[in-house]
Amino acid sequence: MVRLTFYIILALFFAFGAAWISSNPGQVLITWQGWEVRFSIAVFIMLAIFYFLIIWSVLKLYKWLNIATYLGNPKRLAAKRQKANLDLDHAWSAYALGDYKEAIKFALRAKSKLGEDHNILRLLASATEASGETNNPYLETLGKSPQSAPWVQKQQLDHYIQDKSWEAALPLVNSMLETHTSNGYLLKMAFLLLARLGKWPESYQALQNALQVKGAIVPSEKGHLKAVIEYCLALEKKAGGQKTESHALLKAALKNDSSFAPAALLSAQLYIEQNDKKSAEKTLAAIWKKTQNKDLADMIADLNPQESANETFRRIKKITDTTPKSFEANHLLAKVAISAEHWPDAEAALTANINSNTATKTTYELLALLERRQKNDEEAAQKYLTLSDSASADGNWTCTECKTDSTHFLPLCPNCREFDKITWV
Ligand SMILES: [Zn+2]
Repeated sequence: MVRLTFYIILALFFAFGAAWISSNPGQVLITWQGWEVRFSIAVFIMLAIFYFLIIWSVLKLYKWLNIATYLGNPKRLAAKRQKANLDLDHAWSAYALGDYKEAIKFALRAKSKLGEDHNILRLLASATEASGETNNPYLETLGKSPQSAPWVQKQQLDHYIQDKSWEAALPLVNSMLETHTSNGYLLKMAFLLLARLGKWPESYQALQNALQVKGAIVPSEKGHLKAVIEYCLALEKKAGGQKTESHALLKAALKNDSSFAPAALLSAQLYIEQNDKKSAEKTLAAIWKKTQNKDLADMIADLNPQESANETFRRIKKITDTTPKSFEANHLLAKVAISAEHWPDAEAALTANINSNTATKTTYELLALLERRQKNDEEAAQKYLTLSDSASADGNWTCTECKTDSTHFLPLCPNCREFDKITWV
């Protein structure tokens, strides 16, 4: 009954509508690009009804064929996801093998199946970056999401670090620290970047900040890193004429790392400048027990030019006796023993190096010197000099990062601009 009433009302509506249109005739005019189409309002209404009927039929057909159910079918979706996962596996394998073009190809296939999935976008961004392509739209897309933005920033940071663009990396790390205040990696990186830029006071503060967070700095590195920065600050103070402040910093450095020879050398130098040779010798003797190198040996040997060769020998023997197994100690002792004409002591020290397989070029050069001074035996001296040519190299300051040699310790490698990489090897 309700439906019948509805159809009657609909029929009446159409009848009135048709009557109204016939009593109010009109025309529809469409002009476009010089074309002109003109038809009556009745035709226009007929076309509109026809258009709605077509739409209605298509919707009916869509429902009848069950297309939506087909597209949203869980089994079909699972199969699609599985295919996409296989593409992703293929892409990651290609990425691991450095075939970035292949990785991008399969990642794009996965993307066509799964859409803007962030895991796929991260792979695409990484592969595009690794392929050396400068235009990386995936990074831009990921950067728009607050959750993905740190990942994007880290990619940029890696890029800067690889290019050694410390100046560009530092503001990026600082901005990342605003949202990740306790992140150990970022705190350590802020410290390292400031150090690599030679901003010693700021890097010292950054190191203190990093030390507040567990895991940011390896505990075994803590003392040494503090010592190196304190040494750098001491150099700045010394250059500015603030010797007392400089000395205090060097003492702190040696407290933090008792085997950090550059701090002991600078401290001894400051004592010598103040004519306090006793304190200089005490400092050098203390560091010698911990570590030996040629810089220390030379400073110990030349500490008191006024003393006789015998006095030098006796003074140095006391120091080298504390490190009997050191080949550097044997070189130092042999050198002063030759000057003081203590031939058996010189020979014993140098032979000890040969017997312990620690002989270097210097060992044979000193043996040649001994032959010349003691026996004036040029033939034996030449024999040792020949052996010296093929002997192991002596220790020296070398950058462990770029393998460049340095005449002395430097906190920053002039070649690769890395911090604290020049060591005595
Ligand atoms: Zn280097």
